[in-house]
Amino acid sequence: MEHAAQGTCPSSVAIIGGGIVGLFTALELLERGYNVSLIEPDLPGGRQAASYGNGTWVSEGAIIPISLPGMWRAVPGFLLDPMGPFVLQWRYLPWLLPWLVRFLAAGRSWSRVERDIPARAALLTGAVARYEACAAEAGISQLMGARGVMYVYRSHADLEADRPAWDLRSKYGIEYEVREGESLRSLVPDLSAEYILGIRILPAVSLRDPGKFCAGLAKLFEDRGGRVFKALATGFDLSGGKLRAVQTSQGPIACDYAVIAAGIGSGKLARMVGDLVPLIAERGYHVEVLDCPIRLQTGLMPADGKMAVSSTLTGLRLAGQVELAKPTTPPDWRRARIQLKHARRMFPQIADIIDNGPHDVWMGNRPSTPDCLPVIGRSSGCPDVFHAFGHGHTGMVMAPGTASLVADLIAGSTPSVDPTPYSPRRFRFSR
Ligand SMILES: Cc1cc2nc3c(=O)[nH]c(=O)nc-3n(C[C@H](O)[C@H](O)[C@H](O)COP(=O)(O)OP(=O)(O)OC[C@H]3O[C@@H](n4cnc5c(N)ncnc54)[C@H](O)[C@@H]3O)c2cc1C
Repeated sequence: MEHAAQGTCPSSVAIIGGGIVGLFTALELLERGYNVSLIEPDLPGGRQAASYGNGTWVSEGAIIPISLPGMWRAVPGFLLDPMGPFVLQWRYLPWLLPWLVRFLAAGRSWSRVERDIPARAALLTGAVARYEACAAEAGISQLMGARGVMYVYRSHADLEADRPAWDLRSKYGIEYEVREGESLRSLVPDLSAEYILGIRILPAVSLRDPGKFCAGLAKLFEDRGGRVFKALATGFDLSGGKLRAVQTSQGPIACDYAVIAAGIGSGKLARMVGDLVPLIAERGYHVEVLDCPIRLQTGLMPADGKMAVSSTLTGLRLAGQVELAKPTTPPDWRRARIQLKHARRMFPQIADIIDNGPHDVWMGNRPSTPDCLPVIGRSSGCPDVFHAFGHGHTGMVMAPGTASLVADLIAGSTPSVDPTPYSPRRFRFSR
């Protein structure tokens, strides 16, 4: 491992953003001997962060992007059905169109989809072990939840629709098991008999509370000498081609390097250092059925409902939905509650509890690029500022891999992962 503190004063790094990506990166750099500051205006992993209310899945099987062949045919439905799983409002169409066109183009054929799979897989491999190790160091192993994540189907025809994705997972060595009949029932005894088949990705784990997990990482960071500044980063003090400080609402924070890991807030900061990245909020929702009597032994995804279902410390969390809107648009809480309908179908015996709650509802911004790959690398405008954002639907699982890559790039060592596919400059030309 490279250490920044070899004999001389260690270099200092300011991480902007205390979501899961900023936290893993901050810990990785601390471990490598840097002086690390974390700049976050709210609580690290607090309710404002996507890292708080997500589907809880850390699944190394997440190699399939969101934009897939044939999706363009569904676009009229995105516009016309306000309660569908993927919604786009007419009034935002002109603003979203350039992003949407690139998004659909990225999924235009299975060969195009496959082209990015190695880049996705490179950030996923080993994620579960990294979470386990960090949880043990932070004393939060009790927040590591059920093993595996299982897609459940009501018919073989439904499975056939997903067949190309499973074929790709097989081709890229993702370990999974098929469960039917008794083997399905023994794992999920509470699941309705309407579901006849499950395919379970094995290198995966659910977190019992992603927000608390982030808080645990932030505490570990501070215990090890990292400093947290409660401030909003507003710009960069650059002179002579060097970074001098990150400007914040509380004054400048001097540093040798900075990492932009501010989730949906990253686009604005990236522009200040020369990179215009098409980053939008793919808004998602969760509804949690509090005090739910069902405790799952694996994460679940109903193929018809497209939502992650997991047992958390406080209940049964249903998380999903895609709403393309400006981050400032008020939440539409009906979208959180749509997910209750699918939960009732999965667990009809507790329909009453599912309907009548109590519930916790939450909305968050997935920071999404049109090709579903994150933006990781040196900024175009200053060699001391690095990007680590745009992880869309899979930021929880990609955070440890992102942290290692960013640390390698800052150290100037040969990265274990090829950074080319994540370059902020890839959007300058159509791929
Ligand atoms: C409904 C839903 C379900 C999901 N399910 C999963 C899942 O099961 N598995 C998975 O891997 N991923 C999932 N995701 C995606 C995942 O949650 C995100 O990709 C990930 O949390 C992004 O992490 P982040 O650290 O980049 O951003 P965030 O968690 O949003 O953190 C960014 C932080 O930066 C701070 N910030 C913003 N601007 C500034 C600034 N100027 N200065 C300082 N700080 C700033 C914010 O306050 C925030 O705390 C889901 C997302 C949603 C919405």
